[in-house]
Amino acid sequence: MPGITQLLMLAVLAGILLWRLIVWWNQPPQPNPWDEATEASLHEPEAVLLCPRCLEPEREGVQFCRDCGFAVGPYVPWSPYLYIFALGDLLRTGVDRPFRVTATTVCFLVALSLLEYMVFAPIYWFFLFQNVRRQPREHGLH
Ligand SMILES: [Zn+2]
Repeated sequence: MPGITQLLMLAVLAGILLWRLIVWWNQPPQPNPWDEATEASLHEPEAVLLCPRCLEPEREGVQFCRDCGFAVGPYVPWSPYLYIFALGDLLRTGVDRPFRVTATTVCFLVALSLLEYMVFAPIYWFFLFQNVRRQPREHGLH
């Protein structure tokens, strides 16, 4: 049975956490990382969307980039059909393409592959770490 001192410490810790949550919640939204001219150019009528992978201009109404095949368009995160292609492309990047190797990206790919492939995830991890060894090192993994 916890003593009064332990209950007081727990109450103080809970109060500190609640105070930090309230401070975080009440922060004003952060401004965009770009300047006003860039923000204005994003909303011009002649602004075009770019493929996130190859940076080629997208045509309206297409679901896949005509140059690289990446799932593009505003509904990719919301469409179960297109979402699978984007997720597969992300996982394929981990085993097949150059990517920024950090502890965060590798842990993310390990966790995502565990969720997607379950018992087959170690097969993915084998190819992931082969690809990681081929990548130039940045911060984190060495
Ligand atoms: Zn593309």
